[in-house]
Amino acid sequence: MNAPQTLAEAIGCLSGYDPDALAVEQARAIIERVVVPVEAAERVAVRAALGRPLAGDVVSPIDVPANDNSAMDGYAVRFADLAADAPTALAVVGTAFAGRPFEGNTAPGQAVRVMTGAVMPAGTDTVVVQEVVTRDGERVVVPPGQRCGQHRRLRGEDLGRGRPALLAGKRVGPAELGLLASLGFAEVAVRRRLRVAFFSTGDELRSLGEPLGPGDVYDRNRYTLFGMLQRLGVDAIDMGVVRDDPDALERAMRTAAHNADAIVSSGGVSVGEADFTRQVMARLGDIAFWTIAMRPGRPMAFGRIGNTSYFGLPGNPVAVMVTFQFFVRDALLRQAGAAPAPLPFVRARSLGAFRKRPGRTEYQRGWLECDAGGAMTVRSVGSQGSGILRSMSEANCMVVLHHAQGSVEPGDPVDCIAFDGLV
Ligand code: AMP
Ligand code: MG
Repeated sequence: MNAPQTLAEAIGCLSGYDPDALAVEQARAIIERVVVPVEAAERVAVRAALGRPLAGDVVSPIDVPANDNSAMDGYAVRFADLAADAPTALAVVGTAFAGRPFEGNTAPGQAVRVMTGAVMPAGTDTVVVQEVVTRDGERVVVPPGQRCGQHRRLRGEDLGRGRPALLAGKRVGPAELGLLASLGFAEVAVRRRLRVAFFSTGDELRSLGEPLGPGDVYDRNRYTLFGMLQRLGVDAIDMGVVRDDPDALERAMRTAAHNADAIVSSGGVSVGEADFTRQVMARLGDIAFWTIAMRPGRPMAFGRIGNTSYFGLPGNPVAVMVTFQFFVRDALLRQAGAAPAPLPFVRARSLGAFRKRPGRTEYQRGWLECDAGGAMTVRSVGSQGSGILRSMSEANCMVVLHHAQGSVEPGDPVDCIAFDGLV
């Protein structure tokens, strides 16, 4: 990872920086340079590591599996015994189960009945699956055509002793929990949990339980933000609704910067509201106000107060989710100490047309599915207005119409990012 830069330095690295027409990729590049990963680590019980980045490499203290063992139910044999083009009869001298090995040795002409996971009996090297043999009392007849070493799992083939099983920065998911357990670790070192303060701004916002006056709306951004932060595995600190008032905003920002590694606010960055936000922020730290060449989204503030990063997202509910996913998510993961793990695009055939002009990135809510022939298709869902949160709920993916891309005709390929994993 490169050393973090000040906002001015990061901006200075970009050619053609225009805060009023910033491409998505330019904004992402600035943010990536400015955020500071947390250093501190702690040891936690394995299950508590779920969702958190590893603080160091995890080196395997053992071979997994610890022994060569059978991958199937069948018979362990000595391959050299088998005739190349005729059936071979072998004497069955015992049975081995997973966790109950065959104790003796095997001699030429002998086979051992083995269950999946059983340690390969001494002298045997190949497993013949039970479905292809014929059993005749204490003898088993193996047909020709077996391969040497087949159906045998090798010692250390999953994880080799002394080798890094997992690298620092890997976010622990279900597979990693299983890997850590298979190495016998009851605890693991992860980065300390990132603290993220979030609040909504707006005089029109009411919290749940309050009556709605004329022109009021319930605050929904704190709920979508809570959900997205929770999924990232950070400590989300809910700071409520902050009124459109410079003193209230300054107090909230100071408290948040004191208590958290990152601040995410919504609203108050659009033209007309940005002015007092701008004045308040200028007193606290380094902040830039951007108009991003994207839809939905557009206005956004980004900055740093000490080592605390600040993301001022737009107020519209869909814009909040989109800007969170495409700017804040990766930044918070980086701050949390996670290695970059870009979400993959899925290329799908668009069932409908998208009107789009080059020069901005558009994020459309879509529904991704396989057609009868197994090809991926995507269609737009619902109304795409940035205030219409229902479209997020009805979608299973984001259709990403890239900066330079023009209109899309039915049948054209488009890039999508599935919500699963994204939110
Ligand atoms: P703003 O960016 O503050 O001008 O807000 C843009 C639009 O989003 C306005 O219609 C606001 O009422 C609405 N809005 C802002 N914040 C929220 C919120 N937390 N919950 C619901 N709507 C909001
Ligand atoms: Mg507002």
